[in-house]
Amino acid sequence: MVIAKTIKHVRKIIFAAKQKNKTIGFVPTMGALHYGHLSLVRAARKNCDFVVVSIFINPTQFGPKEDFRKYPRQFNQDKRLLEIEKVDLVFYPSAAEMYLKDSSTYIKEVYLSEPLCGSTRPGHFRGVCTVVAKLFNIIEPDIAYFGQKDYQQARVVKRMVRDLNFPVKIKIFPTLRERSGLAMSSRNAYLDQKARGDALVLFESLKLAKKLVKEGERDPKKIINKIRKLIISIKNAKIDYVKIVDVENLRPVDKIKAKVAVVLAVYIGKIRLIDNVLVDANSN
Ligand code: AMP
Repeated sequence: MVIAKTIKHVRKIIFAAKQKNKTIGFVPTMGALHYGHLSLVRAARKNCDFVVVSIFINPTQFGPKEDFRKYPRQFNQDKRLLEIEKVDLVFYPSAAEMYLKDSSTYIKEVYLSEPLCGSTRPGHFRGVCTVVAKLFNIIEPDIAYFGQKDYQQARVVKRMVRDLNFPVKIKIFPTLRERSGLAMSSRNAYLDQKARGDALVLFESLKLAKKLVKEGERDPKKIINKIRKLIISIKNAKIDYVKIVDVENLRPVDKIKAKVAVVLAVYIGKIRLIDNVLVDANSN
């Protein structure tokens, strides 16, 4: 497994792999890897000849009051995990390598980025699109792997790729959960034992939504109200948003007729967690 810290080094290795007609699978991450990340790496390993993982905590997708500084960093452990998964190349650049001091070009997707996390985290998806576009230009993958856990992010990236004609196929894979149901996330490292218990309310909320739809409820407002009640019953939890949205345009639906996404963002203490589930009115 090669670890490359510079764009030049990556390009050299990718050039050699392409010369041998290898298909390149790419998993972008911010490190502090867990099995959710590794499930994407395994999918890439299964489908592609040459697997690249990037580890880069992208400063441009964090707001000024967000957790960029204290975001978990554990490169040595990440490296060991990726070696076991037989990754070919890890791209581990510094912020200075990725962004020149006077860098002044950004990519902004303006429709799918607007609601949900986009409204609470202004600039977040601009940072995501910019870094993903840069990584695609550096690595030139055939297929890139994203998690449904960050549903809006995956949709935004897919739209960017479509609109800007990147020759990359985007694949989205299901959310991996701990046995308790808690969605795996690097940010779970911030939670103490009590907060971990409180954080189960996210998954409980999604299960409740699924159950209500299965029982025939088609009014999103009623479902959202029940979820809100459940969440506010937890003292340490504060709702950022709870929405039931169209899976394509991410806008709230008036009635649940087909496939919808139940999406939520909840603060457990100071830690903001997100989760979602796709529910199909016709097949639940
Ligand atoms: P991050 O390191 O948080 O930027 O995540 C890197 C990639 O892993 C993104 O595509 C995420 O959606 C994905 N991911 C994060 N958590 C999970 C999870 N629990 N299950 C599956 N994929 C995940």
